[in-house]
Amino acid sequence: MINMINMMDKVIVVLEGNQKGLSSQSAEILKYCKGVFAAEHLTAIVLCQDEVNEEVFKTEIFNVAQIFYTNLFDGTYLNQVLTAIQSVVEALKCKTIIGVENDYTKQLLPQLAALNKGQILGNILTFIKQDNQLICKKEIQYGKVTAMYSVPKDKFAAITIAQLEKCTSEFKRHETLTPEVTHWQFEAQEGLSVDIQSVVEHKTQKDIMTSDVVLVIGRAFKNKEQIDKVYELAKLMNAAVGCTRPLVDQGLMDISSQIGQTGRSIAPKVYIGLGVSGATQHITGMMKSATVIAINEQQDAPIFKYANYGYVGDVFETVDLLMTYFKEREE
Ligand SMILES: Cc1cc2nc3c(=O)[nH]c(=O)nc-3n(C[C@H](O)[C@H](O)[C@H](O)COP(=O)(O)OP(=O)(O)OC[C@H]3O[C@@H](n4cnc5c(N)ncnc54)[C@H](O)[C@@H]3O)c2cc1C
Repeated sequence: MINMINMMDKVIVVLEGNQKGLSSQSAEILKYCKGVFAAEHLTAIVLCQDEVNEEVFKTEIFNVAQIFYTNLFDGTYLNQVLTAIQSVVEALKCKTIIGVENDYTKQLLPQLAALNKGQILGNILTFIKQDNQLICKKEIQYGKVTAMYSVPKDKFAAITIAQLEKCTSEFKRHETLTPEVTHWQFEAQEGLSVDIQSVVEHKTQKDIMTSDVVLVIGRAFKNKEQIDKVYELAKLMNAAVGCTRPLVDQGLMDISSQIGQTGRSIAPKVYIGLGVSGATQHITGMMKSATVIAINEQQDAPIFKYANYGYVGDVFETVDLLMTYFKEREE
């Protein structure tokens, strides 16, 4: 049973749009939010990959207080979007931000949670408000357990929903409210497009979700040349290349390659960690790997606790040795 709230808290909903309006998942989430929160407390932020006319939103996203949207969003100006959303959070003194889970919100919402000293709750199935408290439902332990997380009152929470659980409760119907619409226009920052190009080149490689062997690069890798070498090795080994989050944050790798809590969960036959420390947020996404091999220069790196085979040494020397071995084998 959903408890309607009368409180004055503002809620931001981050949605994805296309030429026709909202994506179906976003439309579902918005509809659900409208049933839980009062219309005048809702602000919609729509990230559109196509050029969208704001008239589309006016017909589809009524009954919210405000709409902010940006067109032609492909992640290139993620930092500006983050700053713009944060300014809305601050202006509204908002404590709750709910987003459809996609490649961009997986980057934006954890950062918003960190900026606002709050918590991120990913892959939520649904949520309710009870006694002014937000309670989120989530499956854990690979779907074996359903957990209910309560977000403490007055604490900032960023919630992402990958697949909204079907809701059987009655929605309250609000009065019709015409939102104020703001079009955010951003310029891609110089330099970032260079990184994006290298990411696009890499995208043609094997998929980390289906490959038997995944080479995973960590923060030890600092530039395109070092990363390109790993892609060359991956080709020789018929492997895919994944990464830890710092590589994505630095624009060196695409979010689709990120493994972990705010990335993807992989289950290859062989996981090879190259200069990966083994932080819990990363381990969450690789613990289903059948065999784990770790290469790290620090003997006490946490990754070794999860490894079947470990090598303490320089990762770049190891990559060179493996290249020589696989090249000789090919000849
Ligand atoms: C809310 C939240 C969500 C997060 N989600 C994710 C996520 O989804 N995925 C993720 O990966 N992280 C995630 N993180 C970040 C995570 O906490 C770690 O910061 C991150 O995983 C560390 O990445 P790393 O191992 O590459 O870097 P580091 O921890 O910096 O480790 C680098 C390692 O490389 C080794 N090294 C350096 N140079 C060499 C060399 N020449 N030879 C051999 N070894 C070398 C070092 O000894 C070190 O162990 C998240 C964090 C937060 C707060």
